[in-house]
Amino acid sequence: MKKDLLRAELKKRNQRMTAQREYVLRFFLEAETDHLSADEVYQKVQGRKFSISKATVYRTIELLVEIGLLRKIIFRDGIVRYEPVKKGEHHHHHIICVNCGTVVEFHLDNLEKLEELVKSKTGYTIDDHQLKFYGLCPKCQSTMKNRNNDNNDTR
Ligand SMILES: [Zn+2]
Ligand SMILES: [Zn+2]
Ligand SMILES: [Zn+2]
Repeated sequence: MKKDLLRAELKKRNQRMTAQREYVLRFFLEAETDHLSADEVYQKVQGRKFSISKATVYRTIELLVEIGLLRKIIFRDGIVRYEPVKKGEHHHHHIICVNCGTVVEFHLDNLEKLEELVKSKTGYTIDDHQLKFYGLCPKCQSTMKNRNNDNNDTR
């Protein structure tokens, strides 16, 4: 279905659905890791089955964002990353480890009240919001705890 959407959008732009373009789309739909930069996607699809140029990867990703199949997210490091948009599912939010960079998604959301407040304060309509928390993941917390204990032991 998403493939059909991509094909239709390409046709509108007088472009053909190529194996390479389809492959980039499929890569996102089947990727085990989310939140990849265009460069990471390029590295991962390299040397599989056929050659695919960096420009094709980048342009296809941009197109997928344009037609709403991918969403851009930017964390504190400023790198643009992408994730597939799952239709009908409430968007999720992210918590990011500032030490190792691990990103976890969560679906908790009680921002409706805040949205109402922001709407009435600013007069804007709101159709989306993003929420990012930064901190230390449990793994990094325990690594640091152990390191501190080690330091204490040698004293
Ligand atoms: Zn961590
Ligand atoms: Zn995500
Ligand atoms: Zn939300």
